[in-house]
Amino acid sequence: MMTAAHHAGLASPKLLVHGGAWDIPPDQLEAHTRGVARAAEVGYFLLREGASSLDAVEAAVTLLEDDEIFDAGRGSVLTRDGRVQLDALMMDGATLRAGAVACVERLKNPIQAARLVLERSPHVYLAGAGAEEFVREYGMGLIDNSELVLDRERLRLQVAQAREQAGFPDRTFAGSQPPDSHDTVGAVALDVNGNLAAATSTGGTLNKAPGRVGDSSLIGCGGYADNRSAAASLTGWGEPIMKLVLAKWAVDRVPKLGPEQAAEDAIAYLYARLQGHGGIILLGPDGRFGIAHNTPRMAWAVCERKGLRAGTHLTEL
Ligand code: ASP
Repeated sequence: MMTAAHHAGLASPKLLVHGGAWDIPPDQLEAHTRGVARAAEVGYFLLREGASSLDAVEAAVTLLEDDEIFDAGRGSVLTRDGRVQLDALMMDGATLRAGAVACVERLKNPIQAARLVLERSPHVYLAGAGAEEFVREYGMGLIDNSELVLDRERLRLQVAQAREQAGFPDRTFAGSQPPDSHDTVGAVALDVNGNLAAATSTGGTLNKAPGRVGDSSLIGCGGYADNRSAAASLTGWGEPIMKLVLAKWAVDRVPKLGPEQAAEDAIAYLYARLQGHGGIILLGPDGRFGIAHNTPRMAWAVCERKGLRAGTHLTEL
């Protein structure tokens, strides 16, 4: 059987990444732009050599997890008891295979664990110690949680808890205020065979309850990929995004509206319906894409044949 991609010949590959939607402080703008630009370039170079969209999003998100500026992997925000708990999702638009892990505490690169679940498990979603044990059986090393914790984040947690005790509104979970830090990372890719993939990875929200799972690793919420419509990765205040199953909402609208409009509509809907804040990257099977956010900033990058573009606000696109 011939696929659409075979008929059409080789597609022009494309890779988009985001590094979180929030009010990125001025002294961190450059590091965010540098981080997303590097990840987009590395993913794109793989695509250009013929790598699959899954390989490209995995490589891009692995780099972002290893970059301590982002809320993913080492350097993530802390739970209220001072630990790092990580969630990640990967989805293959060609087959709809998906893999996700949640609340893992001993993995350096949860996106690689999500890939293993996608490839090797009969299940889609594994959480906590069961997820860690599953990937250990496939040779992935387990580390101590303290290796993921930075002093910078210990201090940030102390400040958040002091605010909480002083009766300031909890900016992470309640109210319509954008939260303190939303540095979740994600990538979407289109490979030369016309296949889409999506990946999202996060340390979640600052001062979260142990065991809390946000939107990022939930299929259809923090990410989705289907060759027939689009690939999406989201970031932002997770609880409203989950309630709206926003990645699937956006992807489903791409065939009719195109990714530019669908991305804008998704973020407008997030705010109109639940006063949520966040951002989205959305890539269609024809290579058209949309990026939108309603936070003051979002780190983003696009790499394609025309070259690399990156920034921390859409006016730079
Ligand atoms: N969406 C993530 C969560 O709620 C946070 C983020 O995007 O930074 O876990």
